[in-house]
Amino acid sequence: MKLCFGRERVMAVVAHPDDAELLCAGTLARAKADGASVGICVLCRGDKGQPAKSVAHLAAVRKRETAAAAELLGAGVYFAGFADGTLTDNPRIRKVLTQIYREFRPTLVLAHSDEDYHPDHRAASQLAEAASWFSASSGHKSPSPALELPPALWWIDTVGMSRFQPGFYIDISDYAELKERMLACHRSQLSRAKDANFTAVADLMRLQYRTRGAQAGVAAAEAFQIHDALKRTRAW
Ligand SMILES: [Zn+2]
Repeated sequence: MKLCFGRERVMAVVAHPDDAELLCAGTLARAKADGASVGICVLCRGDKGQPAKSVAHLAAVRKRETAAAAELLGAGVYFAGFADGTLTDNPRIRKVLTQIYREFRPTLVLAHSDEDYHPDHRAASQLAEAASWFSASSGHKSPSPALELPPALWWIDTVGMSRFQPGFYIDISDYAELKERMLACHRSQLSRAKDANFTAVADLMRLQYRTRGAQAGVAAAEAFQIHDALKRTRAW
């Protein structure tokens, strides 16, 4: 069985600039290769992810790193621009994200699990779900028209695979190399590998896609759960 993303418009909504690479870039790459349009929406600026050897203008640097990674993928990239650690599910941020959805017009959204370790990830999870629902409600006004249908929603694996029971796996064996090259664009974060209190992100990513791959009987995989709710499930 092989899922085809060919006619989809797939948008990953993540908290920080390197989260999509870490957790779902292989799936985005496979969707792109199938002919889908792909997009990455980054809600926070990454302004507090400082290496021990401090980087000047970190948020601007991380924006450039994210754009370079998205270019490798051929993805549209949207920056919501909120400061790290300030993300909460509130009407103001829902409205910003609703407009982003209405610009990209996703048929499938990939969003953080609300079991993930980081408070920004959990807030992003709630925001991604709420705004993707309201983006199809014409009563919620924004500069762009409402979506015809709320997009399907898949919850993305948690960082480190804690407390996440995979519902299904996407085989990304052919796209692990691109996922690696995308992560390599995030030099400011890779430079943190030697920092005492930081887990090396490249090692973490590799361990995760190989472990999920081993569980699914392939070289590399990413794990997801379906958001199983009214008007959100699809027959693939
Ligand atoms: Zn993150």
